[in-house]
Parts: sequence; C-alpha cells; structure tokens
Amino acid sequence: MTETWFEETLHRGYGQRFLVTRTLFRQKTEYQELAVHETPAFGRILTLDGICQTTERDEFFYHEMMTHLPILAHGAARRVLIIGGGDGGILEEVLKHRAIERATMVEIDPAVIEIAKTYLPSIPGRAFEDPRTNLIIGDGVKFVADTDEKFDVIMVDSTDPIGPAEVLFQTDFYAQCKRCLSPRGILVTQNGVPFLQQDEFTTTYRRMRPLFPDAGFYFVAVPTYVGGLMSLAWASLDPANRQVDRAALAQRFAEARIDTRYYTPDIHAGAFAMPAYLQKLVDAAR
Ligand code: SAM
Repeated sequence: MTETWFEETLHRGYGQRFLVTRTLFRQKTEYQELAVHETPAFGRILTLDGICQTTERDEFFYHEMMTHLPILAHGAARRVLIIGGGDGGILEEVLKHRAIERATMVEIDPAVIEIAKTYLPSIPGRAFEDPRTNLIIGDGVKFVADTDEKFDVIMVDSTDPIGPAEVLFQTDFYAQCKRCLSPRGILVTQNGVPFLQQDEFTTTYRRMRPLFPDAGFYFVAVPTYVGGLMSLAWASLDPANRQVDRAALAQRFAEARIDTRYYTPDIHAGAFAMPAYLQKLVDAAR
C-alpha cells in the first residue's frame, strides 16, 4: 500500500513531513486553505496553506507559554485579548485562570473555529462555551483600531506574516495594541523560529522597541514548529513585569491552581535567556 505524506512548505530547502493515515477535511476559504490530517506521530494536525498550525500531541508547549507566562508575569490580569487563535488552544489556557473575567478573541476565519471544534476538540475543550468568552469574527487590525476597551494582556496567535496575517506584524498594529493595553499591560506575539526566520525576528524587534518601555523575546522549542527555538515577542508597558522573582512566580502559580504540562515557574524564569547569536542580532538592531 502506498504511503501518503504531508510535506510542510514553510521554509525553503528544509522542512518536516508527516505520515498521514487519513485526511479528514480539506477546504479553501476566502482567506486560506484548511486541512486536517490524522497522523500516527502527532495525532490530528491542523494545517493552513500547507503550514502546520497545531497538533493534538504537542499543542500544549506553545499554548501554555503564550498564556501562563504573560498572565502570571502581570499578576493581576482580568481582561485578555486574543488575536487569531482560531483553534481555541490559547483561549482554553487563558480560561484556566479563574481571575480572568473576560477573554475577547478576534478571529478572521470562522471555518478554523468550526474545524477545530469538530476534528480537534481536545484543543479548545469547552472554551468557546465559557460565559467569559467574547468571540468576534473579524480582522484583528480593525478591532484594535476601533475598540475603546483596555486589556491587561494581548496575545497574537496568528499565522506567519504572509496572507491575512501580514498586517499583524506591522508597526501600526503594534501601536494600536499599545493603545489598547491597560497601564501595566503586556503584548505577546508568535514570532517564528529565528534560526530560519531571522528577518522576522529582527524586524519585529525594530518595530516594537521604539514603542514599548520593555521589548524583547522569550523562547520555547515546539516539536512541530521545526528549526529550533520558537520566539515569542514580548512588549510590556511596565519593565517590572519581566523582573518578577522566582519565589513570587511560584506563589502566583500555586495560587492560580492551574494544571500545566509544559509551563513551570522555573521554565518561566529561564525563558527570556537569549542565545548569543540572537543577542548579537538584537544588539545590532537597536
Ligand atoms: N499557533 C499557530 C502558529 O503559531 O503558527 C497559529 C494558529 S491559529 C490557527 C492562527 C489564526 O490566525 C488562524 O485561525 C487565522 O485565520 C488567524 N488570522 C490570520 N490573520 C488574521 C487577522 N488579520 N485577524 C484575525 N485573525 C487572523
């Protein structure tokens, strides 16, 4: 019997492939092509335009670091904004925090949400039914330009800077996000794998640094975001958010009483450590 493989097309000359036992869904929407594949190695995987977005087996690495780190760094987050995040993994982790009163999610393509609920229900869980969820179908750029609401943490869980998400990597968008943050607010964004997406890394830093008192990155290695460390951009209105000591993080984590499989206070404390070659890029981009 011939084997079927899904080959990712993100990086030139390098990539990953998944043995596929069944393709459960494929559809082209006005924004992108969606597909869900069943794989022995990573369970069900969601791809958009040929790029792996999330898998049942390793989704928690990225979703936990995009959520628990900024929420526990802030220490008093009540209102969260998620831009993108159609698979619902970020929303589910945010809502684990009982102190969160309202989680607004702005997703441009409703088909991604429906597909995640139908074919990858372990990722969103019951987050879309939670009364604290405020789901908006629309463009994140327009939402942050129009809203009067203030948020303690903004998480941009977007696709890569091609297609509908390109606008989410621009200076104007970061400036509007800053406008929507409460006084000690934090913005975090998915920012690619710097070893293979170096321009994205330095460009984001150049665009965020002039806008925020504290701008930088933290890191997580996600098995299916190939190429080494994934960089998550960090932009905070209060530099003290990044200086919370280990003991205080451990106390906040204990008080939050959330169950995690990746995030720990030690992982948090070490996540901002930057490899020398990336530190040189950041220094050169100042
Ligand atoms: N974790 C994945 C990653 O790091 O590559 C991203 C997953 S999530 C499925 C990405 C979502 O961003 C998609 O559902 C896509 O429709 C949404 N998106 C892209 N551009 C957008 C925009 N301008 N406004 C709102 N959502 C957008």
